[in-house]
Amino acid sequence: MRCFACNCELTDYEATLRGTISGQFLDMCGECIKESDISAVSFSKTESASSLSKEDIEDY
Ligand SMILES: [Zn+2]
Repeated sequence: MRCFACNCELTDYEATLRGTISGQFLDMCGECIKESDISAVSFSKTESASSLSKEDIEDY
């Protein structure tokens, strides 16, 4: 899969990114998403969220 904007190859992570508003796959690389000011969410949100919250708890 390639970036819709710059045609570079997407990583597995970038390929799962969806727009938080549209809910559609962006098919864009991280750089182009950043430049477009689109807020994106990873498809595997639950996995990263659980690991993130674990770290947050340890910090507190
Ligand atoms: Zn790109």
